[in-house]
Amino acid sequence: MKIKQNQSQIIGYLEDASNFKGGKAFSVYIPENENEVLDVLKYCVKNKIPLTISAAGTGTVAGRIPLDGVVLSTEALNKIIKIDKQNKQATLQAGVIVEEFLKEIERYNLFYPPFPTERTAFIGGNVATNASGEYSFRFGATRNYINRIKMFLTTGDILEIRRGEIFERNGFIDFGIFKVKIPSYRTPDVKCSAGYYIKDGMDAIDLIIGSEGTLGVITEVDVSLIDKLPERFIIIVFFKKDTDIPLIVKEIKNKKEQLGVYSLEFFDESSLNFLKEEYNFIPENTNALYIEAEKEKLEKLVELIETFRYVSTVVSESLSEYKKLIDFRHKLPENINSYFRKIGSIKVAVDAAVPDDKFEELFLYYQKIISENSSLKMVLFGHIGESHLHFNMFPDNEEKKQLAERIYIESIKKAVSLGGTGFAEHGIGKLKTKYLKFMYTEQQIKEMAQIKKTFDPYWILSLDNLFPKNIIESI
Ligand SMILES: Cc1cc2nc3c(=O)[nH]c(=O)nc-3n(C[C@H](O)[C@H](O)[C@H](O)COP(=O)(O)OP(=O)(O)OC[C@H]3O[C@@H](n4cnc5c(N)ncnc54)[C@H](O)[C@@H]3O)c2cc1C
Repeated sequence: MKIKQNQSQIIGYLEDASNFKGGKAFSVYIPENENEVLDVLKYCVKNKIPLTISAAGTGTVAGRIPLDGVVLSTEALNKIIKIDKQNKQATLQAGVIVEEFLKEIERYNLFYPPFPTERTAFIGGNVATNASGEYSFRFGATRNYINRIKMFLTTGDILEIRRGEIFERNGFIDFGIFKVKIPSYRTPDVKCSAGYYIKDGMDAIDLIIGSEGTLGVITEVDVSLIDKLPERFIIIVFFKKDTDIPLIVKEIKNKKEQLGVYSLEFFDESSLNFLKEEYNFIPENTNALYIEAEKEKLEKLVELIETFRYVSTVVSESLSEYKKLIDFRHKLPENINSYFRKIGSIKVAVDAAVPDDKFEELFLYYQKIISENSSLKMVLFGHIGESHLHFNMFPDNEEKKQLAERIYIESIKKAVSLGGTGFAEHGIGKLKTKYLKFMYTEQQIKEMAQIKKTFDPYWILSLDNLFPKNIIESI
């Protein structure tokens, strides 16, 4: 096992995509096999040392950044153990880089549907955050494709959980080595990464997915695959700003299957401004919908789009144009993240999702905020097909920071009041802990912490993720 103790080697593990500062660790352990994972866990338990689990560091909520103690990096647990073409399954170690896995299964004409947007991430990081991807509109997030998880606990136990074997019954999940009482809240039926996933009759494996490193070290997973996707095209449709976007989205969603839609995204005018320098086809004063669909169904989609009043469209007519438009979509979060870094600010990013029938209300709510607070730079973009938009604010002074914080909290409350979530993707990490109380009661957060205490009785694992520092004293 490699151990890094020199601060110049450790510094890279004290950051992720969140721009969070203040990470601290005195060693990074890089186990090369599961016995070494167990050794690190035993050592930390024995010496009461906080241990933070680290994957590729593409997370946006500082989940892998330690505030103290040591880091366990899964980077050397990077083997694709098995690809079973016949049963469309693969077995992977947690540190496999998503991009490499996708390349490998392409050789078998297979595809991994979660298709996470940030493909330098590790599969273990994806499971721990229930990452979503470019085709979540069509396939859903990582959760839907995880069939087995092997996880090492601080107790020295090894949990191997297969989907379909253990379920919640009468308020408990019986893992064999212990029983877990499930909290009194239920995860809403929307894209959601707000703490532990809890549903009546839930599969035990779903508690682990999205648990952000707080329960154990995931070392291995089985994922399900599908056949390689058919050829696709992209169309970007620009609309006048007063166009009824939710209505158009509804019409497209009603014909989702017929039109073979894989992704349906939205960009408001301010987001498009972040892209104008690189893409000269963006008209002034417009919003846009970005649609990726099966090439075979191009005509049907264009027919539907012709019924809307739009300003202009851009369609990919070749593979190189398709790739260019894929880049168009990726560039926005990248450009936004580099802008945040440039102004040295932490992102104030509302990440709410609501049930489809409540989306129009949330959309109008955001638009009202944007029009009433013109001094604060904001962008609204993202996964409109899943009733989930990113609403980012760029406060550049103290007064605007306070305004952004107020808007952030009110937006979470609004989404929750509509039956949705204030935290659709990325997780809670360290950045959003103090806001979780706007979705769950203090008691429900304590009930969640009880689950962590059962899995990690020594309370050393990925501390400060999800829960406030002092919660252990009150449970
Ligand atoms: C440009 C960009 C775009 C993005 N787009 C999306 C998007 O569309 N949807 C989305 O969901 N996310 C997105 N992300 C966020 C990020 O890619 C995901 O959260 C990803 O799953 C993190 O994986 P990672 O390997 O980088 O994990 P890290 O950042 O290293 O860790 C994330 C969390 O997982 C825990 N963890 C990691 N490995 C394990 C393990 N083996 N066992 C237990 N816990 C573990 C860590 O402790 C930490 O809490 C984006 C990020 C960037 C930079």
